[in-house]
Amino acid sequence: MSSNHSMSSFKKHDHSICSDRYKASIEKYCHQNNLELTPLRQKVFEILIRGHKPLGAYEILDVLSKEGFSSSPPIAYRVLDFLIENGLVHKIQGLNSFIACAYAGCAHIPAFVICRKCDNVAEIRGEENIPKASSSSLDFKIENAMIEISGVCSMCSDAGVA
Ligand SMILES: [Zn+2]
Ligand SMILES: [Zn+2]
Ligand SMILES: [Zn+2]
Repeated sequence: MSSNHSMSSFKKHDHSICSDRYKASIEKYCHQNNLELTPLRQKVFEILIRGHKPLGAYEILDVLSKEGFSSSPPIAYRVLDFLIENGLVHKIQGLNSFIACAYAGCAHIPAFVICRKCDNVAEIRGEENIPKASSSSLDFKIENAMIEISGVCSMCSDAGVA
């Protein structure tokens, strides 16, 4: 879909456009792959798309219990595993937290641009932005890539007097 989606993570924007897009992508993916979008799967995903800040497992559990989903940690972890296995959610190792995929249903190597001040994250497509790693001239087939780029976003650097 829109390639400038990830750009909005670090700008003031109408987030309902983002969340509608995320919702449409998970619904489409589950429909095409015959996967059941159970209420809990839907809920965990919905919690993750409220902003562009990745959430830890305990933050997700917290929101679940506050909002009346009394799920035990193992069940919530199973839901997260399901979402991750299907590429709908990524785990950001460096932050030990989870974020909804911005390119669900498209084969891609996720790369994360992380603001170390506000923790907002933009997902970019690693194979487009680091083409050398995925080029055939390197004679290498990537099986797993975790690209995490940290820095300061414009909203934080504008605000900071430092
Ligand atoms: Zn947004
Ligand atoms: Zn992704
Ligand atoms: Zn920031």
